[in-house]
Amino acid sequence: MADNIQMSTPLVEMDGDEMTRIIWKMIKEILLTPYVDLNTEYYDLGLEHREATKDQVTIDAANATKRYGVAVKCATITPNAERVKEYNLTQMWKSPNGTIRAILDGTVFRTPIVVKGITPFIPTWKKPITIARHAYGDVYKNVEMVVPQGGKAELVVTAPDGSVSRETIHAFDGPGIIQGQHNTDQSIASFARACFNYALDQKQDLWFATKDTISKQYDHRFKDIFSEIYASEYEDKFNDAKIEYFYTLIDDAVARVVRSDGGYIWACKNYDGDVMSDMVATAFGSLAMMTSVLVSPTGVYEYEAAHGTVQRHYYRHLKGEKTSTNSVATLFAWSGALRKRGELDNNSDLIAFANQLEQATIQTIEEGVMTGDLAALSWIENKKTVDTETFLREINDRLVKLL
Ligand code: NAP
Ligand code: MG
Repeated sequence: MADNIQMSTPLVEMDGDEMTRIIWKMIKEILLTPYVDLNTEYYDLGLEHREATKDQVTIDAANATKRYGVAVKCATITPNAERVKEYNLTQMWKSPNGTIRAILDGTVFRTPIVVKGITPFIPTWKKPITIARHAYGDVYKNVEMVVPQGGKAELVVTAPDGSVSRETIHAFDGPGIIQGQHNTDQSIASFARACFNYALDQKQDLWFATKDTISKQYDHRFKDIFSEIYASEYEDKFNDAKIEYFYTLIDDAVARVVRSDGGYIWACKNYDGDVMSDMVATAFGSLAMMTSVLVSPTGVYEYEAAHGTVQRHYYRHLKGEKTSTNSVATLFAWSGALRKRGELDNNSDLIAFANQLEQATIQTIEEGVMTGDLAALSWIENKKTVDTETFLREINDRLVKLL
């Protein structure tokens, strides 16, 4: 056998929790280290280590990602009250994804992994649809109030020079509710650049949609910022790459998406992206067949799976039972990160390996060997449901032949 593939620059490796942490180790042992001399800078984002470092490890990992440009992240627990008890935490640490996203100022792109044998619920969809979700502001940073006795609600802005502008929201003559939302030009511009860069990277068209006919200032601002940045920085590059950017109304976008055959990036405002990514993931099959990458406006990439730590499977694993947990999204986080590292370092062996790893994975499923979640969706005859480890070994059997 040939020598192992070398890596010139470290990949930032962020380990995580529960079943995905188990899968993480298996993927490395069975599918990576036999072929690649993995050069990673390791950060343990498992909850115990986040507690021990007072979450400094998450910040260090995000800063390392900025330094090196590419990271791969395992799913992690976002603690709630139960987890605080379970892990004896001194604090309800924040979501690592939120912390990393704030440091990298990124946009999250989610793409379904399409395989033969699992038909999307929308039969016209032949190619994946990538959702790009703006991850800052709007209803996620809102201020809301119940107005139990009615009254006059106003928007008031005090400028730095002390001047005040105000606008009546509504004069209530009975009980009601109000909500204040915001976003910033800077965040919208970062979102726009991340989307344009990703479209160029993927050589796919970019769609963007809001409700600017109704929201003539708020949503219109999104539309204008996208259009200004496109015209001044990206139009020529899009023409050269023979891809298209277009803006349309959100209702029109939804109708077009359903009738399309896929193969483009759909940029969504925060709420639209939250809802539409669940719709797209479900319609394509499953969260365990969804890749997710955070891209910063400066071109830093963090790859992960779109699902969580698969807690119920982990507890079964701890009891010594075999689980049939789907490792595809975690595996594609690794292959995505290795491919990107290869592209940045001009390492064609690493790129080829990443492609072959994905090919072997898809081939395994298309030949009817899959985990339980997929077997429940697949129409392949004589399909075989295997446990977590066997699935990875089956991929390895095919990978060896491809290499
Ligand atoms: P989850 O881990 O995504 O799992 C929800 C359910 O979906 C599972 O119980 C399982 O169903 C199914 N599922 C998800 N991924 C699967 C896979 N790879 N293979 C097979 N089945 C899979 O979500 P959760 O249970 O709501 O959250 C668990 C923990 O993950 C939480 O602590 C949460 O904070 C964390 N989380 C982390 C991230 C992240 O780091 N990106 C994202 C979301 C959630 P069955 O049990 O019915 O088989
Ligand atoms: Mg959601």
